[in-house]
Amino acid sequence: GSVIGILGGGQLGRMLSMAAARLGYLTHIYEPGAAPAAEVAYALTTAEYDDAEALRRFAGAVDVITYEFENVPAKSLDLLESLRPIRPNRRALSVSQDRLTEKQFLTGLGLRTAPFADVGDRDALPAALAEIGTPAILKTRRLGYDGKGQIRFSDAGQGDWTGAPSVLEGFVDFSAEISVIVARGMDGQVAAFDPGLNLHQGGILRRTTVPCGLPASVVTDAVLLAARIAAALNYVGVMGVELFVTDQGLIVNEIAPRVHNSGHWTQAGCAVDQFEQHIRAIAGLPLGDGQRHADVVMENLIGDDMDRLPALLAAPDTQIHLYGKAEVRAGRKMGHVNRIVR
Ligand code: ATP
Ligand code: MG
Ligand code: MG
Repeated sequence: GSVIGILGGGQLGRMLSMAAARLGYLTHIYEPGAAPAAEVAYALTTAEYDDAEALRRFAGAVDVITYEFENVPAKSLDLLESLRPIRPNRRALSVSQDRLTEKQFLTGLGLRTAPFADVGDRDALPAALAEIGTPAILKTRRLGYDGKGQIRFSDAGQGDWTGAPSVLEGFVDFSAEISVIVARGMDGQVAAFDPGLNLHQGGILRRTTVPCGLPASVVTDAVLLAARIAAALNYVGVMGVELFVTDQGLIVNEIAPRVHNSGHWTQAGCAVDQFEQHIRAIAGLPLGDGQRHADVVMENLIGDDMDRLPALLAAPDTQIHLYGKAEVRAGRKMGHVNRIVR
Protein backbone atom coordinates (compact mmCIF):
# COMPACT_ATOMS: atom_id res chain seq x y z
CA GLY A 1 0.00 0.00 0.00
CA SER A 2 1.07 3.56 -0.49
CA VAL A 3 -1.00 5.50 2.08
CA ILE A 4 -0.23 5.00 5.77
CA GLY A 5 -2.82 5.91 8.39
CA ILE A 6 -1.50 7.03 11.78
CA LEU A 7 -3.73 7.18 14.85
CA GLY A 8 -2.58 10.14 16.91
CA GLY A 9 -1.28 13.58 15.99
CA GLY A 10 1.43 14.11 18.60
CA GLN A 11 5.15 14.39 18.02
CA LEU A 12 5.61 10.68 17.43
CA GLY A 13 3.00 10.67 14.67
CA ARG A 14 4.59 13.76 13.22
CA MET A 15 8.06 12.19 13.10
CA LEU A 16 6.59 8.96 11.69
CA SER A 17 4.92 10.91 8.90
CA MET A 18 8.20 12.67 8.06
CA ALA A 19 9.97 9.31 7.79
CA ALA A 20 7.12 7.95 5.66
CA ALA A 21 7.33 10.95 3.35
CA ARG A 22 11.05 10.29 2.80
CA LEU A 23 10.15 6.80 1.62
CA GLY A 24 7.56 8.14 -0.79
CA TYR A 25 4.45 7.34 1.26
CA LEU A 26 1.55 9.60 2.00
CA THR A 27 0.30 9.62 5.56
CA HIS A 28 -3.10 10.36 6.90
CA ILE A 29 -3.23 11.33 10.57
CA TYR A 30 -6.27 10.72 12.70
CA GLU A 31 -6.37 13.07 15.67
CA PRO A 32 -9.44 13.47 17.84
CA GLY A 33 -10.16 16.83 19.40
CA ALA A 34 -9.90 20.32 18.01
CA ALA A 35 -6.23 20.86 18.74
CA PRO A 36 -3.73 18.13 17.87
CA ALA A 37 -0.80 17.87 20.30
CA ALA A 38 1.38 19.12 17.49
CA GLU A 39 0.35 20.68 14.23
CA VAL A 40 1.14 18.12 11.56
CA ALA A 41 1.96 19.18 8.05
CA TYR A 42 0.60 16.00 6.53
CA ALA A 43 -2.68 15.79 8.44
CA LEU A 44 -5.65 15.46 6.15
CA THR A 45 -8.43 15.36 8.72
CA THR A 46 -9.32 15.42 12.40
CA ALA A 47 -12.22 13.63 14.00
CA GLU A 48 -13.43 11.98 17.17
CA TYR A 49 -12.55 8.41 18.05
CA ASP A 50 -16.17 7.52 18.66
CA ASP A 51 -17.24 8.89 15.28
CA ALA A 52 -17.79 5.70 13.27
CA GLU A 53 -18.28 7.61 10.04
CA ALA A 54 -15.00 9.49 10.45
CA LEU A 55 -13.19 6.25 11.31
CA ARG A 56 -14.64 4.62 8.19
CA ARG A 57 -13.53 7.54 6.03
CA PHE A 58 -10.06 7.38 7.56
CA ALA A 59 -9.75 3.63 6.97
CA GLY A 60 -11.09 4.02 3.45
CA ALA A 61 -8.36 6.54 2.64
CA VAL A 62 -5.43 4.39 3.79
CA ASP A 63 -3.88 0.99 3.03
CA VAL A 64 -2.51 0.16 6.49
CA ILE A 65 -3.11 1.63 9.95
CA THR A 66 -0.55 2.22 12.68
CA TYR A 67 -0.62 4.26 15.88
CA GLU A 68 1.63 6.53 17.91
CA PHE A 69 0.03 5.95 21.31
CA GLU A 70 -1.32 2.87 23.03
CA ASN A 71 -4.60 4.19 24.35
CA VAL A 72 -6.69 3.88 21.21
CA PRO A 73 -10.16 2.85 22.45
CA ALA A 74 -10.99 -0.83 21.88
CA LYS A 75 -14.27 0.02 20.14
CA SER A 76 -12.52 2.19 17.55
CA LEU A 77 -10.00 -0.60 16.96
CA ASP A 78 -12.75 -3.17 16.40
CA LEU A 79 -14.18 -1.05 13.63
CA LEU A 80 -10.83 -0.16 12.06
CA GLU A 81 -9.60 -3.73 12.20
CA SER A 82 -12.58 -4.88 10.19
CA LEU A 83 -11.59 -2.46 7.43
CA ARG A 84 -7.79 -2.39 7.20
CA PRO A 85 -4.78 -4.19 8.67
CA ILE A 86 -3.55 -2.65 11.94
CA ARG A 87 0.18 -2.95 12.60
CA PRO A 88 1.39 -3.57 15.27
CA ASN A 89 -1.47 -5.97 15.80
CA ARG A 90 -4.38 -5.64 18.13
CA ARG A 91 -2.99 -8.00 20.76
CA ALA A 92 0.24 -6.01 21.17
CA LEU A 93 -1.89 -2.99 21.81
CA SER A 94 -4.37 -4.56 24.19
CA VAL A 95 -1.64 -6.26 26.22
CA SER A 96 0.27 -3.02 26.70
CA GLN A 97 -2.60 -0.60 27.25
CA ASP A 98 -3.30 -2.14 30.64
CA ARG A 99 -0.47 -2.47 33.16
CA LEU A 100 -2.05 -5.56 34.73
CA THR A 101 -2.43 -7.56 31.49
CA GLU A 102 1.03 -6.34 30.47
CA LYS A 103 2.64 -7.72 33.61
CA GLN A 104 0.68 -10.98 33.36
CA PHE A 105 1.82 -11.38 29.76
CA LEU A 106 5.47 -10.69 30.64
CA THR A 107 5.57 -13.01 33.63
CA GLY A 108 3.79 -15.61 31.48
CA LEU A 109 6.77 -15.43 29.11
CA GLY A 110 9.06 -16.18 32.04
CA LEU A 111 10.33 -12.59 32.25
CA ARG A 112 10.60 -10.67 35.48
CA THR A 113 8.60 -7.59 36.40
CA ALA A 114 8.38 -5.61 39.62
CA PRO A 115 6.29 -7.51 42.18
CA PHE A 116 2.71 -6.39 41.62
CA ALA A 117 -0.80 -6.66 43.04
CA ASP A 118 -4.15 -5.78 41.49
CA VAL A 119 -5.87 -2.83 43.19
CA GLY A 120 -9.35 -2.83 41.68
CA ASP A 121 -10.79 -0.49 44.29
CA ARG A 122 -9.90 1.36 47.47
CA ASP A 123 -10.70 -1.63 49.68
CA ALA A 124 -8.05 -3.70 47.92
CA LEU A 125 -5.24 -1.27 48.78
CA PRO A 126 -4.40 -2.36 52.36
CA ALA A 127 -4.08 -6.02 51.35
CA ALA A 128 -1.96 -5.08 48.34
CA LEU A 129 0.33 -2.96 50.54
CA ALA A 130 0.63 -5.82 53.01
CA GLU A 131 1.53 -8.21 50.18
CA ILE A 132 3.95 -5.99 48.26
CA GLY A 133 5.39 -4.01 51.18
CA THR A 134 6.86 -0.51 50.94
CA PRO A 135 8.27 1.45 49.25
CA ALA A 136 5.76 0.84 46.49
CA ILE A 137 4.18 2.70 43.58
CA LEU A 138 0.48 2.69 42.81
CA LYS A 139 -0.09 3.12 39.06
CA THR A 140 -3.37 3.40 37.18
CA ARG A 141 -3.81 0.34 34.97
CA ARG A 142 -4.65 2.48 31.95
CA LEU A 143 -3.86 5.87 30.44
CA GLY A 144 -0.79 6.79 32.50
CA TYR A 145 2.28 8.35 30.88
CA ASP A 146 5.21 10.53 31.98
CA GLY A 147 4.59 9.32 35.54
CA LYS A 148 1.03 10.69 35.60
CA GLY A 149 -1.50 8.76 37.67
CA GLN A 150 1.21 7.36 39.97
CA ILE A 151 1.42 7.60 43.75
CA ARG A 152 4.48 6.60 45.73
CA PHE A 153 4.09 4.99 49.15
CA SER A 154 7.05 5.21 51.47
CA ASP A 155 5.06 3.55 54.25
CA ALA A 156 1.74 1.76 54.36
CA GLY A 157 0.02 4.65 56.14
CA GLN A 158 0.53 7.23 53.44
CA GLY A 159 -1.16 8.10 50.19
CA ASP A 160 -4.52 7.19 48.80
CA TRP A 161 -6.08 5.36 45.92
CA THR A 162 -6.31 7.43 42.70
CA GLY A 163 -9.88 6.36 42.00
CA ALA A 164 -9.09 4.29 38.92
CA PRO A 165 -8.33 0.54 38.78
CA SER A 166 -4.63 0.29 39.52
CA VAL A 167 -1.70 -1.97 40.20
CA LEU A 168 0.58 -1.64 43.17
CA GLU A 169 4.21 -2.24 42.26
CA GLY A 170 7.05 -2.97 44.61
CA PHE A 171 9.85 -0.42 44.28
CA VAL A 172 12.73 -1.87 42.27
CA ASP A 173 16.17 -0.99 43.59
CA PHE A 174 17.75 -0.61 40.17
CA SER A 175 21.32 0.42 39.36
CA ALA A 176 20.29 1.77 35.95
CA GLU A 177 17.39 2.12 33.56
CA ILE A 178 17.85 1.11 29.96
CA SER A 179 15.56 0.58 27.02
CA VAL A 180 15.66 -1.49 23.89
CA ILE A 181 14.05 -0.20 20.73
CA VAL A 182 13.35 -3.32 18.71
CA ALA A 183 11.88 -3.66 15.23
CA ARG A 184 10.24 -6.72 13.72
CA GLY A 185 9.35 -6.98 10.06
CA MET A 186 6.42 -8.73 8.40
CA ASP A 187 8.75 -11.62 7.55
CA GLY A 188 9.74 -12.04 11.22
CA GLN A 189 13.14 -10.41 10.79
CA VAL A 190 14.21 -8.65 14.00
CA ALA A 191 16.58 -5.72 14.44
CA ALA A 192 17.35 -3.97 17.70
CA PHE A 193 18.99 -0.61 18.21
CA ASP A 194 21.74 -0.30 20.81
CA PRO A 195 20.15 -0.11 24.27
CA GLY A 196 20.17 3.42 25.69
CA LEU A 197 20.78 4.48 29.28
CA ASN A 198 17.77 6.46 30.50
CA LEU A 199 17.59 9.10 33.17
CA HIS A 200 14.12 9.95 34.44
CA GLN A 201 13.25 12.93 36.61
CA GLY A 202 9.85 13.19 38.23
CA GLY A 203 8.64 10.25 36.15
CA ILE A 204 9.58 11.96 32.85
CA LEU A 205 12.40 10.88 30.58
CA ARG A 206 15.10 13.54 30.79
CA ARG A 207 18.02 12.04 28.88
CA THR A 208 19.07 8.95 26.93
CA THR A 209 22.76 8.13 26.43
CA VAL A 210 24.24 5.66 23.95
CA PRO A 211 26.24 3.58 24.31
CA CYS A 212 24.73 2.75 27.69
CA GLY A 213 28.09 1.81 29.21
CA LEU A 214 26.86 -1.47 30.70
CA PRO A 215 28.66 -4.82 30.28
CA ALA A 216 28.18 -6.62 26.95
CA SER A 217 26.37 -9.46 28.73
CA VAL A 218 23.69 -7.07 30.00
CA VAL A 219 23.32 -5.50 26.55
CA THR A 220 22.92 -8.93 24.95
CA ASP A 221 20.39 -10.05 27.57
CA ALA A 222 18.38 -6.89 26.99
CA VAL A 223 18.30 -7.29 23.22
CA LEU A 224 17.38 -10.99 23.37
CA LEU A 225 14.63 -10.28 25.88
CA ALA A 226 13.13 -7.57 23.67
CA ALA A 227 13.27 -9.83 20.63
CA ARG A 228 11.47 -12.55 22.61
CA ILE A 229 8.66 -10.17 23.51
CA ALA A 230 8.31 -9.04 19.89
CA ALA A 231 8.22 -12.61 18.59
CA ALA A 232 5.71 -13.73 21.24
CA LEU A 233 3.33 -10.98 20.12
CA ASN A 234 3.89 -11.72 16.42
CA TYR A 235 4.76 -8.06 16.40
CA VAL A 236 5.21 -5.91 13.28
CA GLY A 237 6.75 -2.47 13.79
CA VAL A 238 8.93 -0.79 16.38
CA MET A 239 8.50 -1.44 20.09
CA GLY A 240 10.12 0.17 23.14
CA VAL A 241 11.02 -2.08 26.09
CA GLU A 242 11.88 -0.25 29.32
CA LEU A 243 14.13 -2.22 31.66
CA PHE A 244 15.51 -1.92 35.17
CA VAL A 245 19.05 -3.21 35.61
CA THR A 246 19.53 -4.94 38.98
CA ASP A 247 22.12 -7.21 40.59
CA GLN A 248 19.69 -10.08 39.98
CA GLY A 249 19.32 -9.33 36.28
CA LEU A 250 16.92 -7.41 34.09
CA ILE A 251 13.41 -6.50 35.16
CA VAL A 252 10.87 -5.31 32.61
CA ASN A 253 9.25 -2.01 33.62
CA GLU A 254 6.89 -1.64 30.68
CA ILE A 255 6.58 -2.07 26.96
CA ALA A 256 5.35 0.50 24.45
CA PRO A 257 3.91 -0.84 21.16
CA ARG A 258 5.23 2.11 19.18
CA VAL A 259 8.24 4.30 18.55
CA HIS A 260 9.61 5.49 21.86
CA ASN A 261 11.06 8.71 23.28
CA SER A 262 14.21 6.86 24.36
CA GLY A 263 14.78 5.94 20.70
CA HIS A 264 14.98 9.52 19.44
CA TRP A 265 18.79 9.35 19.52
CA THR A 266 18.63 7.06 16.48
CA GLN A 267 17.86 10.14 14.34
CA ALA A 268 21.47 11.24 14.84
CA GLY A 269 23.12 7.91 15.54
CA CYS A 270 21.94 5.53 12.82
CA ALA A 271 21.53 5.50 9.04
CA VAL A 272 17.97 4.25 9.56
CA ASP A 273 16.25 5.69 12.64
CA GLN A 274 13.38 4.21 14.66
CA PHE A 275 10.75 6.14 12.68
CA GLU A 276 11.92 4.88 9.31
CA GLN A 277 12.34 1.39 10.75
CA HIS A 278 8.72 1.44 11.91
CA ILE A 279 7.44 2.64 8.54
CA ARG A 280 9.51 0.01 6.74
CA ALA A 281 8.13 -2.73 9.00
CA ILE A 282 4.45 -1.84 8.69
CA ALA A 283 4.76 -1.21 4.94
CA GLY A 284 6.26 -4.66 4.43
CA LEU A 285 9.69 -3.40 3.38
CA PRO A 286 12.88 -5.04 4.62
CA LEU A 287 14.23 -3.49 7.83
CA GLY A 288 17.09 -1.03 7.38
CA ASP A 289 20.52 -0.73 8.90
CA GLY A 290 20.08 0.44 12.48
CA GLN A 291 23.72 0.07 13.50
CA ARG A 292 24.92 2.93 15.68
CA HIS A 293 27.59 5.01 13.92
CA ALA A 294 28.00 7.67 16.63
CA ASP A 295 27.77 8.17 20.37
CA VAL A 296 24.73 10.31 21.12
CA VAL A 297 23.14 12.04 24.09
CA MET A 298 19.44 12.77 23.58
CA GLU A 299 17.94 15.35 25.87
CA ASN A 300 14.26 16.23 26.06
CA LEU A 301 13.22 19.87 26.03
CA ILE A 302 10.57 19.96 28.74
CA GLY A 303 8.67 23.14 29.67
CA ASP A 304 11.15 25.92 30.56
CA ASP A 305 14.00 24.06 28.90
CA MET A 306 12.87 26.01 25.86
CA ASP A 307 14.64 29.03 27.41
CA ARG A 308 17.90 27.31 26.46
CA LEU A 309 16.95 27.25 22.78
CA PRO A 310 19.20 30.15 21.66
CA ALA A 311 22.25 28.45 23.17
CA LEU A 312 21.26 25.07 21.75
CA LEU A 313 20.79 26.53 18.28
CA ALA A 314 24.40 27.74 18.47
CA ALA A 315 25.85 24.52 19.90
CA PRO A 316 28.11 22.33 17.75
CA ASP A 317 27.20 18.71 16.91
CA THR A 318 23.64 19.33 18.01
CA GLN A 319 20.50 18.33 16.14
CA ILE A 320 17.32 20.07 17.30
CA HIS A 321 13.79 18.75 16.95
CA LEU A 322 10.87 20.97 17.91
CA TYR A 323 7.33 19.63 17.96
CA GLY A 324 5.58 22.88 17.06
CA LYS A 325 3.42 22.92 20.20
CA ALA A 326 1.83 26.34 20.54
CA GLU A 327 2.00 26.60 24.31
CA VAL A 328 4.88 25.91 26.70
CA ARG A 329 3.64 24.14 29.86
CA ALA A 330 5.53 22.74 32.84
CA GLY A 331 6.26 19.05 32.26
CA ARG A 332 5.29 19.23 28.59
CA LYS A 333 7.67 17.74 26.02
CA MET A 334 8.34 20.57 23.57
CA GLY A 335 11.17 19.01 21.60
CA HIS A 336 14.48 17.19 21.99
CA VAL A 337 18.10 17.60 21.06
CA ASN A 338 20.54 14.96 19.88
CA ARG A 339 24.13 15.80 20.68
CA ILE A 340 26.74 13.78 18.84
CA VAL A 341 29.63 12.97 21.18
CA ARG A 342 33.05 12.83 19.53
P1 ATP B 1 6.16 6.56 30.26
O1 ATP B 1 5.12 5.68 29.64
O2 ATP B 1 6.12 7.97 29.81
O3 ATP B 1 7.54 5.94 30.25
P2 ATP B 1 4.81 5.94 32.76
O4 ATP B 1 3.84 6.93 33.29
O5 ATP B 1 4.30 4.71 32.11
O6 ATP B 1 5.84 6.70 31.82
P3 ATP B 1 6.64 4.33 34.31
O7 ATP B 1 7.54 3.97 33.19
O8 ATP B 1 5.80 3.29 34.90
O9 ATP B 1 5.73 5.61 33.96
O10 ATP B 1 7.48 5.01 35.49
C1 ATP B 1 8.23 6.18 35.26
C2 ATP B 1 9.56 6.07 35.98
O11 ATP B 1 9.34 5.92 37.39
C3 ATP B 1 10.37 4.84 35.59
O12 ATP B 1 11.08 5.05 34.39
C4 ATP B 1 11.25 4.72 36.82
O13 ATP B 1 12.26 5.70 36.84
C5 ATP B 1 10.27 5.02 37.94
N1 ATP B 1 9.61 3.77 38.35
C6 ATP B 1 8.43 3.31 37.88
N2 ATP B 1 8.11 2.13 38.45
C7 ATP B 1 9.09 1.84 39.31
C8 ATP B 1 9.34 0.75 40.20
N3 ATP B 1 8.48 -0.27 40.34
N4 ATP B 1 10.47 0.79 40.93
C9 ATP B 1 11.35 1.83 40.81
N5 ATP B 1 11.17 2.86 39.99
C10 ATP B 1 10.06 2.89 39.24
MG1 MG C 1 4.30 4.07 30.20
MG1 MG D 1 7.86 4.31 31.30
